[in-house]
Formats: sequence, C-alpha cells, structure tokens
Amino acid sequence: MAYRGSCLCGNIHYQFTRFDNEIAHCHCRMCRKFHGAAFSTFVPVARTDLTWKTGAKCLATYQASNGTKRQFCVNCGSSLTFQSANDNNTLEIALATLDMDDSSLTPLPVPDAHVHVDSKVEWYTINDELPQYRKDRPT
Ligand SMILES: [Zn+2]
Ligand SMILES: [Zn+2]
Repeated sequence: MAYRGSCLCGNIHYQFTRFDNEIAHCHCRMCRKFHGAAFSTFVPVARTDLTWKTGAKCLATYQASNGTKRQFCVNCGSSLTFQSANDNNTLEIALATLDMDDSSLTPLPVPDAHVHVDSKVEWYTINDELPQYRKDRPT
C-alpha cells in the first residue's frame, strides 16, 4: 500500500508509505508565491518513506534566503516539496499533487490547522473550524 502522486505533466511520480499527521494549510507569503494560490498544504513525510518512481531528474530546487528549499518540476512547474532549513530527514509533499485514485487508502491525509494566518490574503476567508495560528504551529 502506498500513497502515490505526480506533477502536472506526469514526468515525476512519487510514492510514500507513511506520513506525519501535522498537515497544515500555510498562508505565508513564500507558500503563496510558490503555489500561486491563497495557501499551500504540505504533508510531512520521512525521507526514508518516500520514493521517486520516475522523473527525479526533472526536479529543480529553489533555495530561499532563509535556507528553506522547495522543489518543482522543470517541465510543468508543479510545486512539489518543501524542506525546512533545519530538518534534513523530513520532506513535505504538496498534498494536492497526490493521485488519490485508490479510495481504500487509510488513513487519508487530512489538514488539521491553518498556520501563518497573519499573512493570509484579504480575498480568502477561512470557513472551517480548524485552529488558526498567527505564525508557526505551537510546539
Ligand atoms: Zn511535470
Ligand atoms: Zn508557508
């Protein structure tokens, strides 16, 4: 059993077997720019649980001035991963790139919080009951 995902053009396919439950919608400026969307949603996966099935050579990396790294497809531009500056063992996967065609997969990765709400765009209103944090999730 594996969670499978891909980029828009289909060059890159990945899969992982387990994930960390701390899945947040992030409203920070960098996530908004990277996705071209109101917020990002990343699911943390241990590197040892993640496999690039095809197209790993199509992955490009952007490293920001704060040391965070983001990977995307050089062919179609799909936003795929986020890596914090101080955790080499975890890669966060853009949840919306999962191909959830296997409905038997359990548990389903489900977001549980909004983070960096201080940076939220004006034109999007949060309409769910999830906790909202002004900056990072409290540790
Ligand atoms: Zn692609
Ligand atoms: Zn963010």
